[in-house]
Amino acid sequence: MRNTPEILIVEDDEQIRRFLRATLAAERYRFHEALTAAEAIAQTAARQPDLIVLDLGLPDADGLEVIRQVRQTSQTPIIVLSARGREKDKIEALDLGADDFVSKPFAVGELLARIRAALRRAATISTDQEGSIFQVGNIKVDLAKRVVTVANEEVHLTPIEYRLLQTLIRHVGKVITQRQLLVEVWGPQHSEQAQYLRVYMAQLRRKLEADAARPRHLLTEPGVGYRLVELD
Ligand code: CA
Repeated sequence: MRNTPEILIVEDDEQIRRFLRATLAAERYRFHEALTAAEAIAQTAARQPDLIVLDLGLPDADGLEVIRQVRQTSQTPIIVLSARGREKDKIEALDLGADDFVSKPFAVGELLARIRAALRRAATISTDQEGSIFQVGNIKVDLAKRVVTVANEEVHLTPIEYRLLQTLIRHVGKVITQRQLLVEVWGPQHSEQAQYLRVYMAQLRRKLEADAARPRHLLTEPGVGYRLVELD
């Protein structure tokens, strides 16, 4: 990554673009703008931005098409701006390879936190986590030895529970759709079995969270999927 991350804003609404410009400039990010899907795809190829903020409702094509095309050649993080309540769009965007979404209307703080998290993840993706220790709050996972401890007490996880946790760790900070988790943990033939997830996520929370009813790390993204949050 370059010293100052470069962000591509893809948004046709002038008011939102002005708002994003001011927000990103205040944080000293460099940025460029694209007003259409075609421009977004061309600018991504030409500039190779460090991150893309993508509106789904574009004048010439669906933003989902931008994700599809960009993902053929690039792993640059994509944060989708989506109207609240459009869970189907969010799920489709994530399944196509978007990293995260922020619902419109959005709070500046939330958007900036998502941008920071996505940039951080992209920066550490090359440093392979295999064989390292993952820690969040008082939960510690030794990925080489497959040992999980909570407040230094070893916790026994079943193989499925461990695989679910491992998958969440691999995507830490990022929303994973139910379908993605089911495919990665149980296999493609189980992609519709959302009840598996509910059961195993509840078990994981009971074993790892201080209060399973109010999880602080293993979070539900309502109607979309789950997210492992790294920061307290
Ligand atoms: Ca729009």
